Amino acid sequence: MTTPGETETSTPPDTGLGARDLPLVRWLWRAYLRPLRLMIICALVLMAIEGAMLGAISYIVQPMFDQVFIAGDRDAVYWVAGAVGLIFVIRAVTAFGHRTLMHGVGLRIITGMQRDMVAHLLTLDSAYFQRNPPGTLIERVRGDTTVANTIWAVVLGAAGRDIVGLIALFAVAISIDPVWTLVAVAGAPLLLGPVLILQRYVRRTTFRAREAAARLSTRLDEIFHGINTVKLNTSETRERGRFATTTDGFLRQEMKARMGQAGIPMMTDFVAAIGFAGVLVYGGSQIIDGQKTVGEFMSFFTAMGLIFEPLRRVANVAGAWQAARASLERIQEIFKVAPTILAPAKPSVAPEAPAAADIRFEDVVVTYGTENALNGATFTATAGETTALVGASGAGKSTVFNALTRLVDPEGGRVTVGGVETVALDLTDLRALFSVVTQEAPMFDESLRDNVVLNTPDVSDARIRDALEAANLTDFVARLPQGLDAEAGPRGSNWSGGQRQRVAIARALVRNAPILLLDEATSALDAESEVRVQAALDNLAADRTTLVIAHRLSTVRRADKIVVMQDGRVLDEGKHDELLARGGVYANLYQLQFSDA
Ligand code: ADP
Ligand code: MG
Repeated sequence: MTTPGETETSTPPDTGLGARDLPLVRWLWRAYLRPLRLMIICALVLMAIEGAMLGAISYIVQPMFDQVFIAGDRDAVYWVAGAVGLIFVIRAVTAFGHRTLMHGVGLRIITGMQRDMVAHLLTLDSAYFQRNPPGTLIERVRGDTTVANTIWAVVLGAAGRDIVGLIALFAVAISIDPVWTLVAVAGAPLLLGPVLILQRYVRRTTFRAREAAARLSTRLDEIFHGINTVKLNTSETRERGRFATTTDGFLRQEMKARMGQAGIPMMTDFVAAIGFAGVLVYGGSQIIDGQKTVGEFMSFFTAMGLIFEPLRRVANVAGAWQAARASLERIQEIFKVAPTILAPAKPSVAPEAPAAADIRFEDVVVTYGTENALNGATFTATAGETTALVGASGAGKSTVFNALTRLVDPEGGRVTVGGVETVALDLTDLRALFSVVTQEAPMFDESLRDNVVLNTPDVSDARIRDALEAANLTDFVARLPQGLDAEAGPRGSNWSGGQRQRVAIARALVRNAPILLLDEATSALDAESEVRVQAALDNLAADRTTLVIAHRLSTVRRADKIVVMQDGRVLDEGKHDELLARGGVYANLYQLQFSDA
């Protein structure tokens, strides 16, 4: 293969919406908040109105006491009562409006993030998915987006409603007596140190709690996918124990995080206690002395009483932000990962008649982690012929397929199809060359029809039925009450291994690609099916270049060429009889491995 210095690979498309270059907050603003700015501004305006009503409530207390209760002015009752009623109606309506809007904003961000994450994850290398198990990724896509996005209501609520509320309430308080106000908030600077410490604590513990949540999802995924293995090995107790340990870990971290978050409003309450007591002592004596009216004091006290709720919420923003940030950073981290298996900036054209194109491996080295799976493999698969790869388990046969289809990229050497290097082709063009049928024959939780067609455009039911017929599935389909609409179940669990394998073969037939890669594709079939599927595969292979990884003598014998692999190298090639006559590795394999020998 060519090193990046030689072929100019394209820079990976940034499907992370700028996550790679932008700091967290600017990325969030650009990718998710800016498109919703109209909704957000409307919500902020409604919140500001609701916040201002707090000031109005405390303000109306003064005439209520001084004019109505103390002076006994009967006319004032009506306008004071009317004003109080109006204030509460405005509050109710604006609160309804901004809550609805903010739910809309939150949900749009969550679903948008989930869509974008899946779109981005789909571009990443297969190796990424080996390092990050499904449970972890599911938790990030589902859990982290949901946890993170509670923050917008908190932050915007604080910015819109609470800041305005605080300003209005302070205005009322200061207009009554600036000194009282000063006494009331004198303790606030004491908050700074403890709040900063708590914030760091919340951030750390939330991060660990999110990691613990990912471990929970991973355990669940493994239990549910491996349920039969668990039962057959009677390891239910072990799994239950492991899950309990994981939940314990999650509980501990989550509790710590929540406690830290709850600690911040507690601090504001301490300060409130000091302030209230101070004002009561200082202001109370002024009223006794007749310097201030009861109405003024009540109005001030109402303002102070109302101040602490928004103040607590504003103080809570810091903790909530730290908690959300742990999740948001984990989300951004995913968007920052770039795929390494890429098409070149200027792709070559695929061979015009790929079925007539030889496949060639030259000194190919493939490494998973530190171990070499291919160690300088060299061979040619001639166009239009069938080449069988044989070798002990772990010899690197499947890796040959992975390198050919670029699920992994080699560290060294060249892989060519019709003389064109695979790394020089567009990925779509490259993968269109192959139909791959593997031992696992993965199915999706869709109908039989959808599983056969997958991404092939314009496939008629007649063509599907032909493919099913050729894959020896006609009887099977006839027995399905819903026929082609029968559901496969999660990962194809409604069907047997052999049935899945034949569906995968039908899929390859419909796909009709020029090169056929079969990885032990008949291993899950019983002898009778195998004979018939083999006939179908022979038809399929007829005018195609076929690479087959086989462990059955019948398959190997029919091959035009056999490539013998060991430890990531090609040891020998030739026809069955030649190789057997030469003795050595192939003769050994023949005796040990070929099950129908
Ligand atoms: P074969 O198909 O001949 O049985 P493979 O090509 O699957 O062998 O594997 C070759 C070697 O690479 C083995 O030693 C295997 O353990 C290792 N290997 C295969 N896939 C991976 C992977 N995804 N991560 C790490 N090692 C792998
Ligand atoms: Mg294999």
